Amino acid sequence: MDDKIQKLKEIIKESNRIVVFTGAGISSESGIPTYRGTNGLWSKYDPNIYANINVFLQDPTYYWHYFKDERYPIIKKAKPNINHYSIVKLEKKGKLNCVITQNIDGLHQMAGSSNVIELHGNTRIITCLKCNKKFSIDEIFPLLQKEIPPYCSCGGQLKTNTVLFGEPLPSKALLEAEKASKNCDLFIVLGSSLVVYPAANLPVIAKNNDSFLVIINFDATPLDEIADLVINDIASNILSKSI
Ligand code: NAD
Repeated sequence: MDDKIQKLKEIIKESNRIVVFTGAGISSESGIPTYRGTNGLWSKYDPNIYANINVFLQDPTYYWHYFKDERYPIIKKAKPNINHYSIVKLEKKGKLNCVITQNIDGLHQMAGSSNVIELHGNTRIITCLKCNKKFSIDEIFPLLQKEIPPYCSCGGQLKTNTVLFGEPLPSKALLEAEKASKNCDLFIVLGSSLVVYPAANLPVIAKNNDSFLVIINFDATPLDEIADLVINDIASNILSKSI
């Protein structure tokens, strides 16, 4: 493992337009469970019911119960961890182009990253689907104690700013992410199973445009075979020691 850390250190030293692509794995060290895997959230909540846009539009009570009982309490107390701060360190060294994240927890921004592309939205922001007014989760949480689903004062349906199954990704974020993936010299995947598309296509775009591809993930991923360096370990054992 020390050899791999040393190798990553050398690659980072030689790179100046780094993209770090993050997934649920890096926030697991902040106490936010991943979706997949033995203790993943989806073993408890069926995503086809609790995180599907068609079900949400027909009956949002499933989603809001899940949000109130499971999501909010965890997100509320989660703090950035050494992985988020290591990425900020890369930015301060002038080496980082941007962070592309599949996470919806807002921890990169909380740690101090300034250029974060959120592919799947942010659960800390809630929007009225009728008048488009935005709320913070702290504003809406008290309403959930009284009524589920919650409504805006205009009578509109409220929804967290996250991409549910069956919804397209925000096009601006996806375009920016594709552009950054084409223009980087090092693309580091950190804590992602790389099975959710189209996000998981970004490492392929980077690799096809001559970037070095590094995958740091606890479990093997379907893209390991095209990567230049694969490190199967917990993220905090690796990135902070490689910068
Ligand atoms: P995923 O749940 O599919 O995979 C997580 C991966 O992280 C697994 O392969 C696992 O081996 C690895 N992992 C777990 N702990 C790790 C650690 N400490 N260090 C390194 N690797 C670790 O997650 P994904 O690939 O991000 O994609 C699924 C979707 O999950 C995304 O759409 C994202 O929006 C959503 N999600 C986000 C959060 C969050 O915002 N924190 C949490 C759960 C799920």
